[in-house]
Amino acid sequence: MSVSLQQGAFIIAGLLFILALAGLSKHETSKRGNILGSVGMGMALVVTVVATLIGTEVEGVPATEGLPDWGVAAVLIPILIGAAIGVFRALRVEMTGMPELIALFHSFVGLAAVLVGWVSYLEGAPEQNPGLHYGELFVGVFIGAVTFTGSIIAYLKLSAKMKSAPLALPHHNLLNLAAICAFLALTVCFVILPEGDPVGAGGTVGIVLLAIMTAIALLLGLHLVAAIGGGDMPVVVSMLNSYSGWAAAAAGFTLGNELLIITGALVGSSGAYLSYIMCKAMNRSFISVIMGGFGSDGAVVGEAKDYGEHREISAVEAADLLKNSSSVIIAPGYGMAVAQAQSAVADLTARLRAAGVTVRFAIHPVAGRLPGHMNVLLAEAKVPYDIVFEMDEINDEFPETDVVLVIGANDTVNPAALDDPSSPIAGMPVLHVWEAGQVIIFKRSMATGYAGVQNPLFFNENSAMLFGDAKKTVEEIIHAL
Ligand code: NDP
Repeated sequence: MSVSLQQGAFIIAGLLFILALAGLSKHETSKRGNILGSVGMGMALVVTVVATLIGTEVEGVPATEGLPDWGVAAVLIPILIGAAIGVFRALRVEMTGMPELIALFHSFVGLAAVLVGWVSYLEGAPEQNPGLHYGELFVGVFIGAVTFTGSIIAYLKLSAKMKSAPLALPHHNLLNLAAICAFLALTVCFVILPEGDPVGAGGTVGIVLLAIMTAIALLLGLHLVAAIGGGDMPVVVSMLNSYSGWAAAAAGFTLGNELLIITGALVGSSGAYLSYIMCKAMNRSFISVIMGGFGSDGAVVGEAKDYGEHREISAVEAADLLKNSSSVIIAPGYGMAVAQAQSAVADLTARLRAAGVTVRFAIHPVAGRLPGHMNVLLAEAKVPYDIVFEMDEINDEFPETDVVLVIGANDTVNPAALDDPSSPIAGMPVLHVWEAGQVIIFKRSMATGYAGVQNPLFFNENSAMLFGDAKKTVEEIIHAL
């Protein structure tokens, strides 16, 4: 394959990735953005694999050799196995399982960056600028290893296989700082020692330095993410997304692959920006989240407080309330995803609107378990985009609203975030649902949400609990209407 054909394909793929990101920023264009990204990735993959298998040439002169038969099999067989596993998992994954699946994908990117760095080191340095090569490689392995173990911990926390509460080791910030200082010192040693020197890079001592740094980075990834918990997990998801991008970019430098550098930089910078948006949504600084320790300590905070008795309501009574209201806001949360209630909610919305009720959706930026989780579910259920509002757009509208339906949301509608400075979610902006005339809360029990914090909203005079699986209770209301 000619090098110019390969580079042309990489430029087109890079442009498609940029268009994909632009498309994904709006509901209306997100499907198109997804398709453009998939086409770009498909093109990049095919061109890279073909160029690896048959080799490349510049004006008829070979630039790289093709692979022998065993090499072709060694490339194609793992690709086919990986693709089969990917298709199998993607077809079976539930919407509620997406966050942990994505965390697992991030861990694969991190592991790939570690392996690329190690193999590249064992192969030896290029003749030009070996120091630069070793520097890139060392940084790439570091970011990859942090991403790998950090993402595995995020996977365990998001899938509830590990407590979401933050692990607070004594002096945990000092431990992180020591790890980063050790990394910087090891990088200097690794880069400045000349190649060929028995104690230099390319030699056994280089391997030892790389191994020590890899071990430190693996532990740092474990510790960094284990120390973040409760309500701060959304930032971890976007942060690891960003790390995986930088890990891929570093692998791109090591391999001399421009497309990997472009793609990694796009993922890294967009993930960093998403982390910034998530921090803003939670009123936290990025540094304070990274330093960890916020969130629940595992105990049910506020449980000891006596908020009084909660009131219950039946689906038939809720239907009566809705019939007699003129404006309704629906605040969905993670429970809507668990119950797979989005289609029933869309159906209820359509019926109420047909009866002349104004219905709008209020979306909290960290509702669910993924950035944009609720928007994806509502789009899937074909809820019109123009009635779906972000928190800042709708938070002032609650006092003029007759009924709010809180469907499987908890932390994102918890007034303790504003009223109780000792709460682990203190300072996080929330939806002011309690300012409406009536609030109906759809959930199965009085249990807490993700951050493990008791919710005083449930005990307000204008609140009523509608217990049961959200899909079932919404369908009962539709039936009663
Ligand atoms: P929460 O996790 O606070 O609460 C969800 C509620 O849904 C629970 O109280 C649960 O109560 C209820 N529920 C669960 N299953 C059902 C069901 N089948 N039917 C009815 N109700 C159900 O959700 P929010 O969306 O309000 O908040 C999201 C939380 O997740 C925040 O703390 C956020 O920080 C965190 N997070 C968000 C991420 C993101 O990127 N968006 C990533 C990681 C964490 P019950 O069991 O009684 O039914």
